[in-house]
Amino acid sequence: MIYSEPFNSQLSLSLIDQIEKHAAQVDLQSVWPSASLNLLNEVGVCSWGFPAQDSGQDCTSTDWSRFYLDVTAACLTTGFVYSQRQAAVQRLLASDNPLLQERWFPDLISGKVWATVGISHLSTSRQHCDSPAVLATETADGYQFDGDIPWVTGVQQSDLIVTGGQLEDGRQILALIPTVTPGFCWGNTVEMLALNGSATGSCQLKQVRVTEAEIVAGPVKDVMKSGGGGTGSLTTSAIALGVALRAVRGLAREAEKRADLKPEAALLERELRLLIDPLLDETTSLTAQDFRTRANSLVLRAAQAWITATKGSGFVKGHPAERTIRDAMFFLVWSCPAVVAQAALKEFACSPQWI
Ligand SMILES: Cc1cc2nc3c(=O)[nH]c(=O)nc-3n(C[C@H](O)[C@H](O)[C@H](O)COP(=O)(O)OP(=O)(O)OC[C@H]3O[C@@H](n4cnc5c(N)ncnc54)[C@H](O)[C@@H]3O)c2cc1C
Repeated sequence: MIYSEPFNSQLSLSLIDQIEKHAAQVDLQSVWPSASLNLLNEVGVCSWGFPAQDSGQDCTSTDWSRFYLDVTAACLTTGFVYSQRQAAVQRLLASDNPLLQERWFPDLISGKVWATVGISHLSTSRQHCDSPAVLATETADGYQFDGDIPWVTGVQQSDLIVTGGQLEDGRQILALIPTVTPGFCWGNTVEMLALNGSATGSCQLKQVRVTEAEIVAGPVKDVMKSGGGGTGSLTTSAIALGVALRAVRGLAREAEKRADLKPEAALLERELRLLIDPLLDETTSLTAQDFRTRANSLVLRAAQAWITATKGSGFVKGHPAERTIRDAMFFLVWSCPAVVAQAALKEFACSPQWI
């Protein structure tokens, strides 16, 4: 098998196998991946990346890439919802508000609370609209948030949300809002092409009061540019490459029985290695944008190659090639910088040989 050992040495093959077994049910029944998340919590993933003095465990960005390659090759929903929790945690780690960290780090590290982000309206979503999705107004002891957060993963599953609002003067604020705060209302989850187990939907903020103790960052212009991570980060490419790995492995399994598939299976495997190896090399000269553009292209082509090889059987609901082709589409719309989307459009619109 291609990359037969787990990338992250803290995850065992049997744990990854169990996550893979749960993946079909998570997808077919559109259920939150509790069983897989519990397995990850049991090996302490919740504590990764937090400071040692808070009982956290050191975790580099390469360790996280290794984690996402392993988990999303098995189940995209599990890896993806974890990445949204991690995006919230990363903002808290980068915050210079010690009150917030003292209050929430212990419960996040122990896995007692689950966090998510609703930040796309500050970066990729609704950017063409005239008025901000969430308006922030100053109050005596902080701010009031009013508006709609268009995208949140973990609707009804999350205890905390890192989200943001915009002041009249254009400056933005990020805050950590417990989802039991008066005025915070979950919206419905939406039915999507894939990832329905991620409980993704919207939420409304009606006169939600945020005190200084809950401010993560700002007020400042372009608050999303502070604090690391963000749209099209290396994490998003690791997640896409995990799904590409699943497709390349699937095609390779078909090619073991059919010689006609071997040349293309070998080409896709080579391309995958040319992306995964530098992703795990801290000295790589490739940029986050290079990785995401190439990962998006590969995951789409590898998923199509696998379903082509599996024929009608792979088209039937429940076949992993069918799930993988839907999973692959996700990367065209999620946390996708404009330049990466443009590169994809160019690739789709390139002239075929017969024109
Ligand atoms: C499964 C899933 C889970 C997600 N989870 C999260 C999450 O947990 N947290 C989070 O913050 N985000 C999340 N996102 C959001 C994601 O990262 C992107 O921000 C989102 O997909 C952008 O899509 P949009 O439809 O909101 O974009 P928009 O840019 O708002 O586009 C909406 C519509 O407006 C039109 N339009 C777009 N641009 C223009 C323009 N320039 N002029 C005129 N019309 C235009 C198009 O018709 C488009 O369909 C998630 C997305 C998905 C699909």
